[in-house]
Amino acid sequence: MDRVAIITGGSRGIGRAAALAAANRGYRVCIGYASNEAAAREVVGKIEASNGKAIAVRCDVASEDDILALFKAADDFGPLGALVNNAGVVDVSARLDDMSADRLHRMMTINIVGSMLCAREAVKRMSTRHGGQGGVIINLSSVAAKLGSPNTYVDYAASKGAIDTFTLGLAYEVANEGIRVAGIRPGLIDTDIHASGGEPDRAYRLAKNVPMQRVGTADEIANAIVWLMSDEASYVTGSILDVSGGR
Ligand code: NAP
Repeated sequence: MDRVAIITGGSRGIGRAAALAAANRGYRVCIGYASNEAAAREVVGKIEASNGKAIAVRCDVASEDDILALFKAADDFGPLGALVNNAGVVDVSARLDDMSADRLHRMMTINIVGSMLCAREAVKRMSTRHGGQGGVIINLSSVAAKLGSPNTYVDYAASKGAIDTFTLGLAYEVANEGIRVAGIRPGLIDTDIHASGGEPDRAYRLAKNVPMQRVGTADEIANAIVWLMSDEASYVTGSILDVSGGR
């Protein structure tokens, strides 16, 4: 396979695991990262050490210019076959009464607008309507979209609710143009995201509330991502898969 998979936020956590899994499945992998160049280089090095092909491009998905540059770099790398809209952020726990407008704008810009702009660029390249060969778009949501995350981050949960609705709408919009669009709602996954929300042990603290009584791994999400990307999921579109241990 010579097709490219773009994975935003591919330097760490779930995106990193998805990048390694996609390379294993034969994709040429183009990862975006926000600022951690060392982590991005490590992922590229690991893929190349297994005879895979990968590049890393600095791309803050809050910036349309960065997104255009990411897709330009991917174009130079090969024909686009998949986009994984993985980049996403949380913020420190707070009630809505204490959330600033800046916080809300940042959350929605990165988590929603960034994903929609990346998907726009992917559709322009993949849609048979634009002369493309088809492809797959996977959006990372969260079980927070269903739980609402009161007293923690209703802003994050609402941003993921928007991602779920966007997944449905875009899937139906391009279903007849060779593009499948699907979402994944991870549960409590062991990554750095909890530290960025001010509580590194959050996933472990809440694991007792998970029916399976444990946190999940980034690899367990990546396995679902590459399955949805594969021809094994050829009749799957507009679907949102909970990968959450039953949560
Ligand atoms: P993570 O460990 O915090 O990693 C975040 C990744 O996104 C890093 O590669 C980071 O790049 C990149 N990133 C951060 N801000 C960015 C921006 N503005 N533009 C582009 N890239 C950015 O996160 P994760 O836990 O793997 O989460 C990945 C996705 O899964 C997110 O959408 C998240 O909401 C979702 N999710 C996670 C969990 C969980 O429990 N972990 C649960 C449900 C949903 P740098 O390395 O350069 O900083």
